[in-house]
This record gives sequence, structure tokens and C-alpha cells, in this order.
Amino acid sequence: MIKSIFDYNFNNQKVIVRVDFNVPLTDNCEVSDDTRILAALPTINKIINDGGIPVIISHLGRPKGKRNDKYSLLPVANYLREKLKFNVIFANDCIGTKTLEQINEAKKGDIVLLENLRFYEEEEKNDENFAKLLSKNGDVFVNDAFGAAHRAHASTTGLPKLFDNKKFVGALMLKEINFLGNALKSPKRPFVSIIGGAKISSKIDIINNLLEKCDTIIIGGGMAFTFFKAMGLNIGKSLLEEDKIDVAKQLLEKAKSKKVNFLLPIDIVVGLEFKNDTTTKEVDFTMIPDDYMGLDIGQQTRNLFAKTINEAGTIIWNGPMGVFEMPNFALGTKFIAEAMAQATKNGTITIIGGGDSAAAVHQFNLNTAMSHISTGGGASLEFLEGKILPGIGILEQ
Ligand code: AMP
Repeated sequence: MIKSIFDYNFNNQKVIVRVDFNVPLTDNCEVSDDTRILAALPTINKIINDGGIPVIISHLGRPKGKRNDKYSLLPVANYLREKLKFNVIFANDCIGTKTLEQINEAKKGDIVLLENLRFYEEEEKNDENFAKLLSKNGDVFVNDAFGAAHRAHASTTGLPKLFDNKKFVGALMLKEINFLGNALKSPKRPFVSIIGGAKISSKIDIINNLLEKCDTIIIGGGMAFTFFKAMGLNIGKSLLEEDKIDVAKQLLEKAKSKKVNFLLPIDIVVGLEFKNDTTTKEVDFTMIPDDYMGLDIGQQTRNLFAKTINEAGTIIWNGPMGVFEMPNFALGTKFIAEAMAQATKNGTITIIGGGDSAAAVHQFNLNTAMSHISTGGGASLEFLEGKILPGIGILEQ
């Protein structure tokens, strides 16, 4: 069984909290997007309100196992102090006696933020000794870093191993497990998955797993063209993964045998070149001209997909419907996001599986219109693939 922070009172405890403060910074080293910081606040506040002291650990960027000021968590400490008015003690190191002294000096109401875990190569190597040194920083362990839960690193697996029955999932992680887990285990039906994005290769496992559970799978984005090729259609200069044509055939077969409604685009916005202001037209999926490439779903497809979304009980969406970074090919993705927002209002459970679809939903200002937007790109993908994430599995007691 996994225990959450809501099963425990942290009074008088020093609580090591693994969060995902891997935030983007400006050239002046200021936090440019605080989404991940805000997402960790329910856990931090619960610990403080209980009378505990959060000792926060995180990674930021890829400093490759070496101290590098560019990847310091100091800007996050400043943000917590100045913008969110926390009493923050910043430790220049995540292990060591000086750090332990600072933790011991902390009083109720303070939070301690330790420097970037990845300044040590031992973090990503899941080094046992490094995990032991980290464990000295507190009495109990909380993992609230869903975005890092698919990595078996010292702070996500080696460290919780040392805390027997004193390890917990944080509020954010619990929300992720509940939304994604419930959708997979006992979805409100019809259960619809929308899978898009560039390549079929990165989504094979997820489609395979969802074919076991969904009533309908909607396919959009660049990967649709490998399916079309597998169906013997001409795809012009559209994105193709030649070595995945057979996999696409197998997935189509599996959908048929499992009686899963497998919806591919029926019309396509095609362009002459891969750029925003290229010549475009909308064509039937069977009529893609040789010198054009598919860059977005067409109007009939948008309406077809929206109808399915309207009738769904639960929807999981991962991957854009077109090259949404270019305004002329963002319409399909925007339409889907808007249809999902409307479905949410009508009681459908709508889940955005991180990564590019989350970015798209933010781009269209619809981030508050969904039931849940996952904070983990890779982590939510692996969860939807049906894998047990190492950072979650290790919290079983
Ligand atoms: P992924 O990381 O696999 O979810 O892919 C996201 C990327 O897929 C985005 O950068 C989109 O621009 C890209 N994409 C979506 N549709 C297409 C398409 N028809 N052709 C090429 N790239 C696409």
C-alpha cells in the first residue's frame, strides 16, 4: 500500500521532500515559469501546517554531475522568498555537515531548500552511498516529483528505500496517480484516447496498452501517415517511419480484433513545404498529392473527432494533431483542446498527458479548463504504457 502525506502528521519532523523544481530560467537567472513551484505548494504547506520542516530537494537541468551556477536552485529560493513569502534557508549543497547544520538551525515555519542534486553524478547513477548521505537530511521522506518518477535515481529510489514505513507520496503525486490510475483501471465510459505527435515509434507501447482498455482511439499528428502507408495509401512527402509500417499494421489488426474504434483523420491540411507560410490545401486522406506533406487535420476530421469527444466519459490526450507551433497548422490541435474544454463542462473527465499537448493547452489558455493536466511528460507516458514507475513502486510499504 502507498501512504500519502494525508495519512501522517509531520509535527516536529524534518521532512525530506523530493520535488520537481526543474523550472525554466531567464538569461538573468530568474524563474520564467512557476508552474512546477506552485504545483508543489499543497505538499509544502501541509508539512508546515502540521508543524514539520520541509527539507526540499530537486534537480534542475542537466549539469552532468558537476557544480555549475547556471543550474543553481538559488533563483528558486529567491522566488519562494520574494514572490511567495516563505521563510527560506538555502543550502549551497544537498549533502554534508554544513547543510546538516543549516537544517538543524531551521525553526517551525521555515523551509530549507538544498542545492541541485545533479551537481553530483551519483544522483543519476542511483549511488547507494549518496542516497545514505541524503537520508541524513531528515526523519521522513516524501516524493512529490511526478515528473522524475520514471527515473531510478538516488533521490527517487535509493533514498526512499532507506525510510521503511516513513515514506509518503505528496499531494501532487497523489493527484497524478489518482487521475491517471483511475482512468486506466476504472474509466467512466466511453473511454477515448487521443494520440498524436510526430512519431509512432515513441507511442507504440502506449497505443498497445490503451488498445486493451479504450473504447475508441483517435490518431492524429505526424504518426497518422505511417498508418496510412500501412493501409497502402499514398502519403506524398508526409512524415513516414518506414521501419514502423509493420508495427502500424499490427496495431490496426489488434484494434480490429479487440473491437476498438480506431479513428484516423479523414481529411488533411497539406503544405508544399515544412513552414508556416507555405502553399496549403485541404484534401481527402486518400488524395494526398506527391509533392505535398500533411501538417494538420482537416475540417471534417476536426468535426468527427469533436463528436467523439462530446460523447466520451473519460478522455486521455497525448500529442498534438498537427504542427501546432506554426499558427497555420495549429487549428486541429486547438479545436481538439476546445472540444475537450467543452466536454469537461459537460462532466467528461479530461486528462492531458503532459509534454507537447500540455504546452498546446497552455498556448490556447485552456489550462484551467481540463480535469487534469499531468506535470510529467516522460513519466505520464510510461504510466499510460502500463509500467510501474520506479519512483512510485518504491513507495509501496
Ligand atoms: P511528440 O513529441 O511525439 O508528441 O511530437 C510533438 C511534435 O509533433 C510537435 O513538435 C509537432 O510539431 C509534431 N507534429 C505534429 N504533427 C505533425 C506532422 N503532421 N508532421 C510533422 N510533425 C508533426
